[in-house]
Amino acid sequence: METLRVLELYSGIGGMHYALKHSSKASAKSHSESGISGQVVAAIDINTTANQVYRHNFPGTPLWNRTIEGISLDEFQNLQFDMILMSPPCQPFTRLGRQRGIADPRTKSFLYILNLLPRLSPLPRFILLENVKGFESSSVRQYFVQILMECGYIFQEVMVSPTSVGIPNSRLRYFLMAKISTESICSKSKDLQMSLLPAETESSVEPSLSSPQKPVTSSLEKEEEMEDRVLYKLETTNDAQRKLNQNRNLSIRQIQDFLEPQENDDMDQYLVPSYVLLRYALILDIVKPICRRSICFTKGYGRYVEGTGSILQCDLETEIESVFKNLDQFSEEEKLQQLQGLKLRYFTPREVANIMGFPKSFSFPDQIPTRQRYKLLGNSLNVVVVTRLLHQLLSKW
Ligand code: SAH
Repeated sequence: METLRVLELYSGIGGMHYALKHSSKASAKSHSESGISGQVVAAIDINTTANQVYRHNFPGTPLWNRTIEGISLDEFQNLQFDMILMSPPCQPFTRLGRQRGIADPRTKSFLYILNLLPRLSPLPRFILLENVKGFESSSVRQYFVQILMECGYIFQEVMVSPTSVGIPNSRLRYFLMAKISTESICSKSKDLQMSLLPAETESSVEPSLSSPQKPVTSSLEKEEEMEDRVLYKLETTNDAQRKLNQNRNLSIRQIQDFLEPQENDDMDQYLVPSYVLLRYALILDIVKPICRRSICFTKGYGRYVEGTGSILQCDLETEIESVFKNLDQFSEEEKLQQLQGLKLRYFTPREVANIMGFPKSFSFPDQIPTRQRYKLLGNSLNVVVVTRLLHQLLSKW
């Protein structure tokens, strides 16, 4: 089996590295494939907490605690890498961020990489980039695509959410997969550009890289749009219907498949505190173990309430509707008692990691506090989604 030398930029807690490992395994199993595997020759990130987690899980991988824009062409050149995996910081492109794109100082390191790319010799054969929804319409994406074409890459863009690989979690993300064109590396022909499709594959289990373009706003995208918006209002009938439909979609697994054993003694620390119950009960996104949906876990999970991730209802005897219907007739004390009866708790970091496709072998060093764990996971990616995309990038083209 051929082993690619892989450069992992913005490595965080190593979501890309796990996807690479998993896609290598998948390709080794399916003998029909080309059998390419990868070895991370350098992972680069400036977040020291993320780096502690990375090192803990990948002790054998060279990890550079440096700013990307401080690394010289020669240093990159010496790594002799065949593939780049990267998730540049996404704040410049989020809807709540000011969408400054190219003008935002946080894109500096990515622009540095783009300027460096044409000067690498040889060019890396494969590139996979992950980013938030919004990147596809940014000036940075346009510049990226222009550089790829000038360098002779063919590429494909997709929008994928974990629901499309059977995982009960919405996390719509932009991916670009590029491969160097073998015919003529110098050709600048537009034909090299493969179909440019933001393909949200909400219903299919396989993330299809060639599915036709769908209408711009699917219901799922609407939910994703709510991901970082403050929700003051109560649920509308539309919301309720959409959730019902998601829970009926049997191609998606149930939340219970991703939970830790409920008898763990330390689960009480994850119960939603009383003041949150009293002030925010009506805006929590509550799911039960049998549900087949949850909203995106963001870096503020466990800290901010609105739209940062779903809450789990552990008492299954009580009907949530019956509690919520009469809530305003109760005194504060009774209200709290009713709400506490539902045993609402946060998903543990381990459970969030499970939902995001991190393997059992992944763990946090003991000293990393819970909030940091949520934050790091919130910045990471769904490993199962990226595994599928990498597998396709390495085997089908
Ligand atoms: N894919 C990663 C997360 C990427 S989030 C994972 O699986 O965890 C973006 C990461 O880029 C953050 O960890 C941040 O620390 C890092 N970063 C941002 N700007 C950087 C720069 N200029 N140089 C190096 N790392 C940077």
